[in-house]
Amino acid sequence: MNYILTIILNILFAIVISGGAVKDVIQRLNNERLHDPLTQLLNRRGFSEKSEKLAFSNHCYFLVCFDLDHFKLINDTWGHYVGDQVLQKVSRVMLQQQKPNDLMARFGGEEFIYLISAKDATEALSRTQQLKTRLEQTSFTSCKIKITASYGLTQIHNFHELEEGLQRADDLLYQAKENGRNQISFDLII
Ligand code: GH3
Ligand code: MG
Ligand code: MG
Repeated sequence: MNYILTIILNILFAIVISGGAVKDVIQRLNNERLHDPLTQLLNRRGFSEKSEKLAFSNHCYFLVCFDLDHFKLINDTWGHYVGDQVLQKVSRVMLQQQKPNDLMARFGGEEFIYLISAKDATEALSRTQQLKTRLEQTSFTSCKIKITASYGLTQIHNFHELEEGLQRADDLLYQAKENGRNQISFDLII
C-alpha cells in the first residue's frame, strides 16, 4: 500500500515540476519574442504590445525616434563587435533615464524609440535633451568612443495614432539629419 502511495506521490511531484518547467519555457519564449536580443530593449512587436496598455486618458505621451549619427564609421573604424558594444551601452544609458510609464525600444540597426510619459511638451523636450546630453557625455567601450544622435519628437494622443506618430517622429528625425545631425527636431508647441 505504502509502495503505491509513493508511486502516486512521485507522479504528482513529476507533474508539478514539469508544469513549472513548461511555464518557465513559455515565459522565456515570450520574453524573446518581445525583446531585441542584443540590447534586451523591447523590439517592434514588444513596443506595439506594451503600447496597447498605455493609459492615454491619464497621461500625455510623446514619441522620440532617434538614430545614431555616422554609426557606420564606428563599425568601419573599430569593427562590428565594438559597434555592438556601443549599441548595448546606448540601451543602458536609455534605461538609466526610464521613468514609470516610459517605454524604450530598439527598432533595428542604430535606431531607437523612447516613449515618454510627461505632463506637457516642455517636460518631454527637456527629457529628450537630457538623454541627448547623457549620450554625448558617455565614453563608449574601452576605446572611449564618443557618439551623437539625431532625434525626432512628437506627441501622440491615443493608441490608434501610434503608427502615424512613429512616422511623424521618423520624418522629424530625418529633418534633424538633414539640418546637420546632433539635434532634436520637434513639432510640439512649447
Ligand atoms: P547617419 O548619420 O546618416 O545615420 O549615418 P549612419 O552611418 O549612422 O547610417 P547608415 O545607415 O549609413 O549605417 C548604419 C550602420 O549601422 C550600418 C550597419 O552596418 C550598422 N548596424 C546596423 N545594425 C547593427 C548592429 O546590430 N550591430 C552593429 N555593430 N552595427 C549595426
Ligand atoms: Mg545612423
Ligand atoms: Mg539608421
